Amino acid sequence: MGVGQGEPLPGGALRSTSDLARARYALREQQRREDVRQGRVLQVYLASGMVVALYYMAHVTVLHDPHQRFLAWVALAMAAAFGVTMVLAARGMRSVAGVLAQVIPVVPAVAFSAVFSVEAGYTSLLFVSALGAVVTIQADHTRSRFAVIVIVLASLVVVQVFLGRDHALAPLGPHATAQVATVNREVMTAGLFTLALVLTRGVQTSRRLVEASLAVSELAANTDPLTGLANRRPVWERVSELEHEGKEFALALIDIDHFKRLNDEFGHDCGDESLRHVAEVLATHSRPDDVVGRWGGEEFVMVIPGGAHQAKAASERLRADIAAVAPYCLRADHPITVSIGLAARLEGESALATLRRADAALYVAKDEGRNRVVVAGAASG
Ligand code: GH3
Ligand code: MG
Ligand code: MG
Repeated sequence: MGVGQGEPLPGGALRSTSDLARARYALREQQRREDVRQGRVLQVYLASGMVVALYYMAHVTVLHDPHQRFLAWVALAMAAAFGVTMVLAARGMRSVAGVLAQVIPVVPAVAFSAVFSVEAGYTSLLFVSALGAVVTIQADHTRSRFAVIVIVLASLVVVQVFLGRDHALAPLGPHATAQVATVNREVMTAGLFTLALVLTRGVQTSRRLVEASLAVSELAANTDPLTGLANRRPVWERVSELEHEGKEFALALIDIDHFKRLNDEFGHDCGDESLRHVAEVLATHSRPDDVVGRWGGEEFVMVIPGGAHQAKAASERLRADIAAVAPYCLRADHPITVSIGLAARLEGESALATLRRADAALYVAKDEGRNRVVVAGAASG
């Protein structure tokens, strides 16, 4: 079944012994894919940082000024730092790389502001970190995110307070300053919108992962760990549904004969193997609309849609199939047999009353010598 769609468990899914394993595998696969995606997002972020750094470097080297040459070196160093961070990320040091991705731009933002003044708008680039920290630093590294935000905010304050036009080393003219500020704002806008898209996608994926985890938990809660069959809970939910819909169905309670003796004689492990053996016969024997489950102990249940006649035939076939092949741990001359109490729901009868009649029929089957199917009469008890 599809995991993560939040659909109710259909009858057929209750029979499968491998649904839980499949759902777990699907969830792990989804988590792995998300991990790969996050790694890729980080690399693209760093590569974009490198491109921006190189762009700033190209921009300042056309002007032959010692201050601007210094800035060209700063921009080159930023590009190199992003390159090194990409290598770190590729080697699995994603936490460090995520933090560096946000901290590295602080240096050029401060340096460029020191030369050109705060008015040139280089701090715009730092605003990208507001979303960048969420994208590049994993959700469980809250402290790192917090530290990065504090560093970025502190540098913003420093630039704002200390690097005004009066204190700038070589401020550009008003026209050039406005131009540079515009470019910086555009880079910031592009960065923020792209990150918003990435974050939206991330939120969607997280929601899907939560849904898939819930589906796995629900399957685990509904599955008997020994046999892989449905346990009592989902079976009874299905029975209640059928009752509510007023559908015709029969309940078969299937109890292994002399199971205690089998445990005593062949050991508890053999008892467990026998339970799995019976569960497998049940799962392969039942039809897509039937629901089978472990009722508890050495007792199983089968919900058979339709009338008593079909249910009786199905139960007889099941009884014979179980008796036909013994589990490996038993000697060939020691087949497992089951007794089956069967009750078809009567018009207007509650499912609980049907269950009671099936249970009573099971007692009769045991009394009459076991290894048989007994169909309950109309009267309860
Ligand atoms: P009857 O033919 O009348 O049904 O007799 P029985 O021995 O099958 O029934 P009884 O209720 O006396 O014993 C059931 C046994 O099933 C007792 C319990 O130890 C065993 N049992 C219950 N659950 C498990 C299990 O998960 N594994 C194993 N190996 N044994 C179990
Ligand atoms: Mg028994
Ligand atoms: Mg029993």
